[in-house]
Amino acid sequence: MAIQPVIIPVKSYDSNANFISNRSIPAAQTIYFDSCFRYTVFMKEFIDTLLKEHTLSRENFIRLIDARTPELSAYLFEKADAVRKKHFGNSVYIRGLIEFTNYCVNDCYYCGIRRSNREASRYRLSKEAVLSCCEEGYALGFRTFVLQGGEDRRYSDETLSDLIASIKSRFPDCAVTLSVGERSYDSYQSLFEAGADRYLLRHETADEAHYKKLHPASLSLENRKQCLWNLKEIGYQTGCGFMVGSPCQRTESIAEDLLFIHELQPEMVGIGPFIPHHDTPFKDFPKGSVELTLYLIGILRLMLPKCLIPATTALGTLDPEGREKGILAGANVCMPNLSPISVRKKYLLYDNKICTGDESAEHLKSLSKRMAKIGFQIIKSRGDHPDKI
Ligand code: SAM
Repeated sequence: MAIQPVIIPVKSYDSNANFISNRSIPAAQTIYFDSCFRYTVFMKEFIDTLLKEHTLSRENFIRLIDARTPELSAYLFEKADAVRKKHFGNSVYIRGLIEFTNYCVNDCYYCGIRRSNREASRYRLSKEAVLSCCEEGYALGFRTFVLQGGEDRRYSDETLSDLIASIKSRFPDCAVTLSVGERSYDSYQSLFEAGADRYLLRHETADEAHYKKLHPASLSLENRKQCLWNLKEIGYQTGCGFMVGSPCQRTESIAEDLLFIHELQPEMVGIGPFIPHHDTPFKDFPKGSVELTLYLIGILRLMLPKCLIPATTALGTLDPEGREKGILAGANVCMPNLSPISVRKKYLLYDNKICTGDESAEHLKSLSKRMAKIGFQIIKSRGDHPDKI
């Protein structure tokens, strides 16, 4: 004999918790429906808490990440958009990225320019070449230049200081951001005194065990974090960040990242999906998720309302509309490439990196159009953190 389902009358609600109707549904479904509904309302409360208090407990960060649904993401992005609009309106800041060396002493397992990659064709840009990238960028309206490179010991403090000072004297209304990895306190201090304004150093993961899975024993999370604290203390506008979906990353690791970011209170946070590079030990690992990256951008915007958050190249590499989606999720910075086209393919951190062949001027034009299409405007100013102006 077939077992008759128990039918229970329920009130149903739409996603905004508005009453729709009374109807009868089987008991088991009622429990499912009710628990999903309650869970979504519960998670929305976490988002509201994040908006007010800018952080959550470790457990609640994990719940908020694991419970995400399209409905919850939409709610988060709506809040993140309002926060970003409050502090930045519809402005998107641009930074001219100059990848000036792909030599690196480190051997991070995920990175295409790691020391052990014998297939990488190595290059260094001369001071004149870097200055001519700045020249071109300045004419296009860039007022921040990001000098990024592997950890290349050829660039002593003196050499880098000379480069920074030359850029600052030729382009006094521009900011210089450095992204050249781990150095000593004194080194950071002397580069700051030479005129560097900002420093990007992704912490990569704040989970000790996870850090060891991504890096050889010569690198430590402790030192990475100490570098970030040093940069903050010296006075740099400081940026940390991590890859989303890097091998062995768990939601718990991401919760650690968010807690560390809350503790550090950086002026910038860069996150992008992990993308495998064919000549690294991680070549067979799956790429990170665009959807999770966007969700985390939304969370970061609520955690750090005035933060400078880029819609990264990695996001644009995995999704043709990745940068637009990043901006709509709460980001407010784009970093077009100003490196000479002849070296762009050599700075291959991961496979299929975009924009390796675009002229800077053309790229900026198309980026402006793309941003305008989603209601945003590219701003040609230094774009400092609002508390550092
Ligand atoms: N050497 C500097 C440093 O360590 O900060 C800057 C250059 S490093 C190559 C820039 C960033 O690229 C890293 O912090 C890392 O997060 C990111 N990256 C490297 N390999 C990647 C990959 N396979 N997928 C996505 N991002 C990657």
